[in-house]
Amino acid sequence: MSDKKNYGFTTTILHSDRRKAIEHGSLHKPVHTSVTFGYNDARQLASVFQGKEPGFRYGRQGNPTIAALEDKITRMEDGVGTLCFATGMGAIGAVFQALLRAGDHVVSSSFLFGNTNSLWQTVAGQGVAVDFVDATEVANVEAALTPATRVVFVETIANPRTQVADLARIGKLCAERGILYVVDNTMTTPYLFRPKSVGAGLVVNSLTKSIGGHGNALGGSLTVTGAYDWNNYPNIAANYKRAAPAQWGLAQLRAKALRDFGASLGPEAAHHIAVGAETLALRMERTCANALALAQMLEADERVAAVYYPGLASHPQHGVATELFKSYGSLFSFELKENIDCFDFLDRMTIAVSASNLGDTRTLVIPVAHTIFFEMGAERRASMGIAESLIRVSVGIEDTADLLADFKGAL
Ligand SMILES: *Cc1c(COP(=O)(O)O)cnc(C)c1O
Repeated sequence: MSDKKNYGFTTTILHSDRRKAIEHGSLHKPVHTSVTFGYNDARQLASVFQGKEPGFRYGRQGNPTIAALEDKITRMEDGVGTLCFATGMGAIGAVFQALLRAGDHVVSSSFLFGNTNSLWQTVAGQGVAVDFVDATEVANVEAALTPATRVVFVETIANPRTQVADLARIGKLCAERGILYVVDNTMTTPYLFRPKSVGAGLVVNSLTKSIGGHGNALGGSLTVTGAYDWNNYPNIAANYKRAAPAQWGLAQLRAKALRDFGASLGPEAAHHIAVGAETLALRMERTCANALALAQMLEADERVAAVYYPGLASHPQHGVATELFKSYGSLFSFELKENIDCFDFLDRMTIAVSASNLGDTRTLVIPVAHTIFFEMGAERRASMGIAESLIRVSVGIEDTADLLADFKGAL
């Protein structure tokens, strides 16, 4: 398949492995389980180690199966390069491990995936200051910046309350100040939105979620988009400045995070994720339509106190979401009226499964305050807008009528 044609999203993913010849005409990149790679010419081994020629050396820093998945994600995000990790948290942790030093400052959205929130608290105890702001307004981000701010971190649609960050204006602000803009694109996926289009220099994806899409493999990725000039980043060591500046961040992340901390993706998981990614667009179309139908039905029901979904006209960032995203995502959350017990409600469902995880083909529901946001305590939950009765719904690809009936029946 030629690199010249401007193929669509799904065509590009389906045929990306074939861009380089695979033995026997195989259409999938094989699962390479070899931990190491042998060279008949020892000088060539040295040259690979020294970065003078491409090649694989030891599985912790990558292998051909993982490289093929990295290439797919780079194409999906229209980036210059991608690194895969064992999990999404491994990818986010890498930003801290490889790019931040004691004395640096991070401005983060306060509307975050729970474990990312917890990670930033850990970071704050290790000499990197973190300020949490309401990132739905660029002014809050601007007011928090200091001369030591290295990174601004936001999620596109926040999990679980679905606040949409002021993505484009924050991107403009970061570009003006030379700050690295890191966007977690897990909830939108590169099919609905490319953070590069608003100036993000680094894009996080939890591959565990919609990209893998079947709840059968964990994985995470960081994509360098090319939108950031790494000349502006003070923490890049001379060692990693040998190639063009667009590659500096990636080179340091590969060595200082992936190699030294070792949260490497396994080849079998990479294969599962690559196969899952082939149907990302199809699944997103279906799940977004299901999510909108469910959110509309619940919003119209008098037993429901509130529904949070960017696809509803009542959502505060409905306009921004319409402007930036192809559709509104597969996740929404809602609160029941006080006289309905959320546990009883969940137990009455027959299709939706009470479980964590999201972006699965199956619909998953979870009482947020009592599970994934339990550890942080009531005060921080309140500051993030998480009511005690909040139920998060990760909508699957089941038949719409079945899902509507399941929720209606449980009410
Ligand atoms: C799940 C998730 C992560 C973490 O991904 P894992 O693969 O579970 O480690 C990060 N960000 C968001 C928005 C997520 O939903």
